[in-house]
Amino acid sequence: VPILGCMAQPGEICAYCAQPVLTGEEKPEHAIPAALGASLTVDTVCDPCNCWAGKEIDQPFLEDDWVRLHRSQSGVVDPRRGRKSRPTSSPMLQGYTDDGDFVRLDQNGEPRLRSRIVDLGEQKFQIRADSIEEMERLKRRVEKRTGKEITDEAITHFSSQPRVHGRMSLDTLVWLRQTAKIGLAVGSQVYPEAWRTGADAARLREWLNSEDALAPLGQAIGLVPREVSGTPIERFVNGATHLVFFQRTKEATMLIVVLLGSVFVSLPVDTSGGPTPQIAWKLDPARPKAGGQTSFDTLLGEAAEQFIAEHSEQSAD
Ligand SMILES: [Zn+2]
Repeated sequence: VPILGCMAQPGEICAYCAQPVLTGEEKPEHAIPAALGASLTVDTVCDPCNCWAGKEIDQPFLEDDWVRLHRSQSGVVDPRRGRKSRPTSSPMLQGYTDDGDFVRLDQNGEPRLRSRIVDLGEQKFQIRADSIEEMERLKRRVEKRTGKEITDEAITHFSSQPRVHGRMSLDTLVWLRQTAKIGLAVGSQVYPEAWRTGADAARLREWLNSEDALAPLGQAIGLVPREVSGTPIERFVNGATHLVFFQRTKEATMLIVVLLGSVFVSLPVDTSGGPTPQIAWKLDPARPKAGGQTSFDTLLGEAAEQFIAEHSEQSAD
């Protein structure tokens, strides 16, 4: 049984840099970025590594289209920003027309065109806008610019339903590095200190510092996110919760990380054949300050309850 919640001792090993630099007064490090409303913090990361990971690992991760897509679908906003929090815009709901105009869907699902004035030369202008009011506003701007009034006869109106091309990318490298970070942070809490200097942590550290997404031969684990929907993990999830738990396979103890209830990654954290940690975390982004520590048994029990509730509802129908 791992000892949890202990303060790091001076001279202890930092989980990220493997140097004996911990003072015991480290700032809490968020295993999963705090912007996602995940309260799982560890005290086994030195402050310089904490700061570095925020900039080099969390920030690029939060900018990835795949993360933004799931954030926008879950409606989870950055809890640290209070009222200033804005929903994440979905990379799926925006794109460019054939003419190069930027279009996005607003919160009501209405297409919004970024309006603009195209100078065609010889005192001719084209106004591109998504409403009559917006077109009138830009017309007045053209009048101001040219110093001439534009008469109705001088205007040719046209409207079209543009075809919009969108593009979404998945940066496997930022996922690899973020996943390795979560593995190091959680592993350093759950396993004895010696784990931090062992082979499993060393491999995670290699991924953490990786500059390309290629795994070494024989370790072809893509650490790419997979959709929760349609997998056995689905039964553990309710709402946009983050889940962290361990699962044993033949080769290793895997850490399973579910983000926003919709996407998950699994990674090997212990190949020594030791016991599978029973600790788990269930983190509700709506209550980002709660600790969320639980056990795998509790997660299983809740999944069973949920299954029974759903099943009896269906029977009642
Ligand atoms: Zn460090």
